[in-house]
Amino acid sequence: MKTDDASLRVAARDASLVRPTPPAVVCLAESHDDVVAMMTIAADLGVPVVPRGAGTGLAGGAVPSGGAIVVSTARMNRVLDVDRDNGSARVQPGVVNLDLDRLLRSTGFHFSPDPSSQQVCTLGGNVANNSGGPHCLAYGVTSAHVLAVRVVLVGGEVVDLGGDDPEPCGLDLRGAFIGGEGTLGIATEITVAITPNPPVTRTLLLAYADMTSAANTVSSIIAAGIVPAAMEVMDQGIVRAIEQYVGAGYPTDAGAVLLVEVEGLEGGVAANEVAIRGIAERMGATSIRTAVDEAERALLWKGRKTAFGAVANIAPDYYLHDTVVPRARLASVLDEVASIGVRHRLMIVNVFHAGDGNLHPLIVFDRRDPGVLERVHEAGADIVRASLAAGGVLSGEHGIGIEKQEFMSAMFTDDDLDHQNRLRRSFDPLGLSNPGKVLPSSHSCADIQQLSSVPAGVWL
Ligand SMILES: Cc1cc2nc3c(=O)[nH]c(=O)nc-3n(C[C@H](O)[C@H](O)[C@H](O)COP(=O)(O)OP(=O)(O)OC[C@H]3O[C@@H](n4cnc5c(N)ncnc54)[C@H](O)[C@@H]3O)c2cc1C
Repeated sequence: MKTDDASLRVAARDASLVRPTPPAVVCLAESHDDVVAMMTIAADLGVPVVPRGAGTGLAGGAVPSGGAIVVSTARMNRVLDVDRDNGSARVQPGVVNLDLDRLLRSTGFHFSPDPSSQQVCTLGGNVANNSGGPHCLAYGVTSAHVLAVRVVLVGGEVVDLGGDDPEPCGLDLRGAFIGGEGTLGIATEITVAITPNPPVTRTLLLAYADMTSAANTVSSIIAAGIVPAAMEVMDQGIVRAIEQYVGAGYPTDAGAVLLVEVEGLEGGVAANEVAIRGIAERMGATSIRTAVDEAERALLWKGRKTAFGAVANIAPDYYLHDTVVPRARLASVLDEVASIGVRHRLMIVNVFHAGDGNLHPLIVFDRRDPGVLERVHEAGADIVRASLAAGGVLSGEHGIGIEKQEFMSAMFTDDDLDHQNRLRRSFDPLGLSNPGKVLPSSHSCADIQQLSSVPAGVWL
């Protein structure tokens, strides 16, 4: 247990712009039993509990509400078992995504969901946010790779959701828990499906004069019936920052670059590579390059995976957005994003998982500029509205947290939200597990639960 100022400050925030709020106490759980004890104490005292992994979340999901106990599962970081015969691994929630992937690679398998934060984010956070990543285009996001989760509910009850059997009987409560952003309980053990390493992997770098041609290439590749392992787009602003940072070999004169990866057996990969090159040419690619060896391939990916760090070469702060739009609308929504930047006098660069229509506009700024934060938030809200108007959704992978909570009413009817709240209540009747997140306050009784007395005139 930690109550010193430094520990409380660290647990007060995640990687989002959501205002930090220090918790009352931080519990660095080292075992399942520690979590059970904390969840029992929370219910006894009627105090909210906020689960926390590495704190890399971008929607404020791990930012505590006032007076909460933060339960960090980051120290529960052991891989308990790797079962190659059944293609699964059992892990504690604090295992870092890349650590699991590295350990598995040597056994001929890997863990497919690969958030760009994979060097630090934990499996518990991945499950809670149903995280994605570049390779989720072909393999699916986290929910497609989780077989079972052991969960501790507020009050200390333990439930096992899902099972080793790929088709467990009964309601899919495992599916309900994944993406619950810590509002349904705390995961203390996760069984994931592991994916065999592909025999051949080839990575292409395509350059274009403008973003529209790159976005249209993405739609055309999918329309041709090809599903690459990954398709990542970067605009000129971010490419220049990356080149200054790691020198990945991207062309800095291009208006946009597209990284495409194809995997599988040699024959299929070769055929797909030829087809993709043909589409790229037709879409006006100014250069087409296939990485010649593993070192070059790794460098191309290093550029993409360190893009957010590279932003420091442009400005000290950034606000990373996350919406999804239909792939065919990518080009038009990106145009809209550019005009939002002009309208709010802000620089916006783009790096995103184009294959699944997942946009990540990055608003870069210096928070010391007077009034800039207000403009950043207004521009962010405009990006969400533009994505919804194009038939998109609020979040591709970062979750709703606090950041997008009030936009939920723009996507869901009152009935939808009430049903979501009822589902949440069936896991957490006291409303103490990560209250004040995801559902708009008018659709969650969680906030009312935090009041020591109900103010006069409030109707319950
Ligand atoms: C530079 C950068 C790049 C990123 N790229 C991607 C990307 O490509 N794809 C993507 O999906 N995300 C990305 N993210 C967002 C973030 O890394 C992911 O959402 C990640 O899964 C969060 O994991 P975490 O361990 O840091 O969780 P935290 O931030 O600590 O928590 C996130 C949520 O999970 C809950 N939680 C944590 N542990 C548990 C648990 N054991 N049980 C129940 N609930 C729990 C928390 O309450 C919170 O709601 C990126 C973030 C950064 C900073």
